[in-house]
Amino acid sequence: MRKFTVDAMLGKLAIWLRLTGHDTRYSTEMHDEELLQVSLEEDRILFTSDAELYERAQNLNLESLLLRGSVDEGVARVFAEYDILPKIDPTTSRCSKCNGNLITLKDVDKDRVKGLVFEQTFDYYEEFWLCEDCQSVFFQGGHWKNIEVYMKRISDLIGRMT
Ligand SMILES: [Zn+2]
Repeated sequence: MRKFTVDAMLGKLAIWLRLTGHDTRYSTEMHDEELLQVSLEEDRILFTSDAELYERAQNLNLESLLLRGSVDEGVARVFAEYDILPKIDPTTSRCSKCNGNLITLKDVDKDRVKGLVFEQTFDYYEEFWLCEDCQSVFFQGGHWKNIEVYMKRISDLIGRMT
């Protein structure tokens, strides 16, 4: 699976790439130099909204995409260009916060998130996803609907592009 680097201006894109299971480096602290270096060393495609950075990537023969316009258009363009389905399957997602691996926890394994989420949440949901790196816990709560609505929007945008 392809790996990506995303510049500091495109944080939302980074989240959606991680949620769709793509190893995506993103940090507001990475400077241009570091973005280029990490992308080259780790064989990552660079997404940027900065024309100058894009040009530097071109000169280094680094695969890169210059994204202009709205965030949503950018997400749709990347998904279309790299054949990413606008569908989130949490069992294959990476941590949206840190890009870490998520472990699926259900049945007896659920106990591992006890104390990390509210008691009602723990009792109510049957499946949780725990980030091995930052210990964030994810579950298909009320916000899940928003994720689906957003993916539908991206799907519509892609439909209009092709
Ligand atoms: Zn994490």
